[in-house]
Amino acid sequence: MTVEIVNPTTGRVDYRHELLDKAGIEQRLQAAAGAFPAWSATSLQERAAVLRAIGAQLRERKDDIQGAMTREMGKLKVEALAEVEKCAAACEYYADHAADYLKPQLIDTEAQRSYVRYEPIGCVFAVMPWNFPIWQVFRFLAPAFMAGNVALLKHASNVPQCADLINEVVRAGGLPDGVFDVLHIDNDQAADVLRDRRVKAVTLTGSERAGRSIAANAGDQLKKCVMELGGSDAFVVLDDADLDKAIDAAVKSRFDNSGQTCIAAKRFIVVEAVADAFTERFVAAAGERRYGDPADARTTLAPMARADLRDELHKQVQASVAKGARVLAGGEPVDGSHAGYPATVLDQVGPGMPAYDEELFGPVAAVIRVKDEAEALKVANDTRFGLGGSVWTTDAARGEAFAQQMECGAAFVNSIVKSDVRLPFGGSKESGFGRELAEHGIHEFMNIKTIYVA
Ligand code: NAP
Repeated sequence: MTVEIVNPTTGRVDYRHELLDKAGIEQRLQAAAGAFPAWSATSLQERAAVLRAIGAQLRERKDDIQGAMTREMGKLKVEALAEVEKCAAACEYYADHAADYLKPQLIDTEAQRSYVRYEPIGCVFAVMPWNFPIWQVFRFLAPAFMAGNVALLKHASNVPQCADLINEVVRAGGLPDGVFDVLHIDNDQAADVLRDRRVKAVTLTGSERAGRSIAANAGDQLKKCVMELGGSDAFVVLDDADLDKAIDAAVKSRFDNSGQTCIAAKRFIVVEAVADAFTERFVAAAGERRYGDPADARTTLAPMARADLRDELHKQVQASVAKGARVLAGGEPVDGSHAGYPATVLDQVGPGMPAYDEELFGPVAAVIRVKDEAEALKVANDTRFGLGGSVWTTDAARGEAFAQQMECGAAFVNSIVKSDVRLPFGGSKESGFGRELAEHGIHEFMNIKTIYVA
């Protein structure tokens, strides 16, 4: 089957590619299973050398990769280049730290010797989204390779050239054949791949809808899975917040990547004492985001990745407005654009509106006004999501106490929520389970094996 890729900036078909047939999938599954024994037997030093070479390749090919990201999902050039650099740094980080994370852990018992040993599990299937088409893949791949696992990637169907470039880069870095490959397949074929006995586990970064389907399949097969799903992060502004810092951060967190970030601030929960001042300045700052061609250095708001996603977002805005939300900025698709949506701020958002209850995966901020800190916490936790959240206050101790009560995988004080290779990343509630990055991430797809010598 031929898939057409539409450039979100121009609306024109830029690229066509073929999905794999059954034989193509079988050949890659066989190669992965065949590559695992030798790859898992390599030393950590050998794997680290390959990972460093992959990092160097990423930097060498950064312009090609940026070009593909910008063409396929509309990422701003400057953001795409920063993403490639982040991936290269993550490769280096795991090359430097994996030996420490994977060393056997002695445990004192009555045995002569007892310890935990970390062993690779085999082929891990990675299903990835388009919003950070390189970073989402490398934050899984770098630890997976160091762990001694092999991997197959099913990337989002709108970023095939990004997937192919990842394949080229890892091969150029010296990764042996079969240790990694790309499967250009649809979701039914993906379900079959997950059922294959040679695939030992699956990791998904994507929507809850995909999460329910893949986790159900993994559960049916009794295979380990990690789910990195959607979020509706709270950005809580307390009465003593430094508004200059909070507003800069609010604009960056909500509108970078055209708002298509799982850990973007989505619900701006502001206490009454500062609500007018915050909202007025936030609207002014949002209005400075300039929509345009993502390859143009003057553009500060990129198109959304696809027109259907933009239309879905607009429906959520309209439904929220019908229930009483007020549009303070934006609120209508960018005239004449294929997938453009302006930086939008909705005020007076409350329960029962999509802007309160659902994830808004685009450049729309929902301002929710609350009486005080206690109500702010209640509203911050009044969501089925639990990915991240942030709180803004000049009293660090107050912020830390608030952060500890937020029901999510990562709570930041006076900082936007960000993924950092040194810190574990993942959600709670319906944002998923399992962790990526740091030491926790590398252990997810390993057999944590107990050795006991009496
Ligand atoms: P998506 O539609 O769920 O797609 C993600 C990936 O899953 C794509 O490769 C997609 O393939 C695949 N997929 C979808 N349904 C599937 C199924 N039934 N079986 C197998 N594969 C399936 O999500 P998206 O629109 O690309 O990404 C946006 C969502 O991802 C947002 O909710 C966002 O918050 C979340 N996200 C979470 C994180 C995190 O770390 N927690 C990070 C980034 C994004 P096709 O493209 O072929 O459909």
